[in-house]
Amino acid sequence: MSDRPETDDVTVLADLRVVVDRIEGRSVCGLRVGDEFTVTSSSQLRMPPGGHFCLYALAAVLPLLPAKQRALSAGDWLSSDCEAACPDPDERLVMRIESGPVRRHATEDLT
Ligand SMILES: [Zn+2]
Repeated sequence: MSDRPETDDVTVLADLRVVVDRIEGRSVCGLRVGDEFTVTSSSQLRMPPGGHFCLYALAAVLPLLPAKQRALSAGDWLSSDCEAACPDPDERLVMRIESGPVRRHATEDLT
């Protein structure tokens, strides 16, 4: 598999984009459909200038991101599931995790 590291000192990670896919309730935290952040270079989270993101939505999606950065086996549920929800029951806000370019990092630069 081309996405797998070829040597012990390389970490292969996809850039990610997390975007608000839909809000089926009331947006309590002020997020709107299309609001987003990206994760690049393993750990760097960026929002568009002036953008914000709900702390609780962020907390819900955060545990999935390190796994979504990596190549998963085809049968792994997380390879096909790409949605997470903000825990606020009034909001019913669903985020979509999109994979971007896959990049090779020197492992020693990450740890
Ligand atoms: Zn929220």
